[in-house]
Amino acid sequence: MSEVLVVVDHVDGAIRKPTFELLTLARRLGEASAVFFGSSDKGAEAATKLGQLGAEKVYVVDDTEIKGYLVAPKAEALAQLVEKTSPAAVLFVSGYEGKEVAARLAIKTGSGIITDAVDVEEGGVVTQAAFAGNYTVKGKVTKGVPLITVKPNSAPVEEVGAAGTVEEFAATISDAAKKAQIVAQQPRKASGRPELTEAAIVVSGGRGTGGNFEPVEGLADALGAAVGASRAAVDSGWMPHTFQVGQTGKVVSPQLYVANGISGAIQHRAGMQTSKTIVAVNKDEEAPIFELVDFGVVGDLHSVLPAATEEINKRKG
Ligand code: FAD
Repeated sequence: MSEVLVVVDHVDGAIRKPTFELLTLARRLGEASAVFFGSSDKGAEAATKLGQLGAEKVYVVDDTEIKGYLVAPKAEALAQLVEKTSPAAVLFVSGYEGKEVAARLAIKTGSGIITDAVDVEEGGVVTQAAFAGNYTVKGKVTKGVPLITVKPNSAPVEEVGAAGTVEEFAATISDAAKKAQIVAQQPRKASGRPELTEAAIVVSGGRGTGGNFEPVEGLADALGAAVGASRAAVDSGWMPHTFQVGQTGKVVSPQLYVANGISGAIQHRAGMQTSKTIVAVNKDEEAPIFELVDFGVVGDLHSVLPAATEEINKRKG
């Protein structure tokens, strides 16, 4: 059975959940092998978790010559690993970095690429959200090594095995790949909430909040959810742009999306309509958001959300 490489998305060894989802998808295509950029120690630690969740092998690529630069060295190292292993496919998390590394790897290896996949089936058929999530398209890469970037929340995490075996891989990084250097890095302020694009539940607020996001944040915290916002809320200065969901914000695909005081403009839909279950609270029963919801509540969010939050907290005990 051929290997399928899964590029591990992690921050200082803390692996993000979408990587584990990729392992589930990779096992449909062959034997899952994870690729971990980092130190040997961190790689060995990561191999325990990655193995439990499906990686037979973990390639640890020493990142001494990689971490100080933007994406080019990663793509170069992966090209060398692809040449060595001839994998059946390479899977990435569909974020800014995953997409850029995948695109560079496609050029280097002369391979086809599918981005923003929401499912990968046995045989390599990939379902992709296209045209801002208005269509889903099934496709298959027929040239080179299939490179697939997958949106978070596209597959379950499955506990399957024991620790993956670790294999160190030494890549040679060229000077040309080191032209864009990272000069400063600032960690995002920790909110205690899950990352917006990875969260299983997103609770968003729009202009209808009138600038008071407390009910939205209260419900989000009761559900263990991330907070999102419409552009109207961001443009009003109520929330930072990092919270914006939509065409010019983040694209999310959670199990549950709760839109509060959001009308449902096409540009907002572009960022959330592949969510598995959509709920909206809006005081206007004619609001376009109700065209795409699974459950809708016609009412004032300032009374509906606190009541829902109270009930959820009560049931949690
Ligand atoms: P509104 O459209 O004003 O809707 C507010 C809603 O709140 C209404 O439906 C109202 O009935 C309801 N409401 C009011 N008070 C209450 C209450 N007390 N309780 C319950 N409901 C209440 N938008 C995005 O969101 N993301 C994007 O990425 C994005 N990109 C864009 C890119 C371009 C190029 C353009 C032109 C626009 C973009 N927009 C984007 C803007 C988009 O077109 C809409 O203007 C925006 O989404 C509207 O935000 P909203 O739904 O919060 O506000």
